[in-house]
Amino acid sequence: NETLLEVKDLETAFKIDGKYYNAVDRVSFNVKKRQILGIVGESGCGKSVMSLSVMRLLPKGIGEIKGGQIDFEGQDLAGKTEKDMLKLRGKDISMIFQEPMTSLNPVFTIGYQIEEVLFNHLSISKKEARLKSIALLKSVGISRPDKIVDEYPHQLSGGMRQRVMIAIAIALQPKLLIADEPTTALDVTVQAQILELLKEIQEVNEMSIILITHDLGVVAEMCDEVVVMYAGRIVERADVDTLFHNPKHPYTELLLGAIPKMDEEVETLSSIGGIVPSLKNMPEVGCRFANRCPKAMESCLQVTPALGEVEANHDVACLLYETSQQKEGAAAR
Ligand code: SF4
Ligand code: MG
Repeated sequence: NETLLEVKDLETAFKIDGKYYNAVDRVSFNVKKRQILGIVGESGCGKSVMSLSVMRLLPKGIGEIKGGQIDFEGQDLAGKTEKDMLKLRGKDISMIFQEPMTSLNPVFTIGYQIEEVLFNHLSISKKEARLKSIALLKSVGISRPDKIVDEYPHQLSGGMRQRVMIAIAIALQPKLLIADEPTTALDVTVQAQILELLKEIQEVNEMSIILITHDLGVVAEMCDEVVVMYAGRIVERADVDTLFHNPKHPYTELLLGAIPKMDEEVETLSSIGGIVPSLKNMPEVGCRFANRCPKAMESCLQVTPALGEVEANHDVACLLYETSQQKEGAAAR
């Protein structure tokens, strides 16, 4: 299974009162070709900052990549100019967000907004662009695409708008789609339809997806592999079956315990006590989960746990576990 994206030791800092704080702190992970990778965690865990770093869409003058690499098919995106990124964005990597209304321009028709992406990257005629737009709308399950193409965003439902955003995102058949909470703003029935659509598109276009969500139900449904983030760091990584059946990190265990039952309306993660520490209050050393962890030990405040392998293809950052890297280190001494 070939690697499409390799993020290595990524550090992204945000400026608060003139000082920089790492919102993403030495994060490393891979996305393989044709894989759906889930990134989970509560809000404020650095999931969105991570994806904005990959897209190089961090807010100017506030968010900045301070270290690490973002290798996409052998090119380091972290070092690219905005001009280079303009060629890549939309064409090789696309992104969809939670609220499609804010990403669609209210004053232009749906067709205009799809055509804009096509014209930016392809030399095609007006007529070809319109036909392609209609075909794209059809491919994302929009009925009467020849009518919808001339409508404005406010004339569509939330689910339809997200379908339009997906049509725009896949217009140039990117190799990687980053979907940041793509269904969070939608009602449950529509959520399921959009997820189904994403899965279908992933298969047809043979692309990779990074699916960012706070919803482990969505992960179970969609993903091959999962990365769990807490306070800017990866705390656990495994394939989806391993993570659900054999979670190791206390944070993952709590997340899994907080999965709402199908017929219950529960704020997914509200049953975990406490909150993610804010950037300014992040402890310098030790485990960032220590103040909420039911298994915390004295050493958790003094030693920063490193992400390491605890069994084949299963990485955890917690002092409760001895990693194969530590075992090797001990053997070498
Ligand atoms: Fe809990 Fe300590 Fe493990 Fe952190 S390192 S998750 S505080 S047991
Ligand atoms: Mg977010």
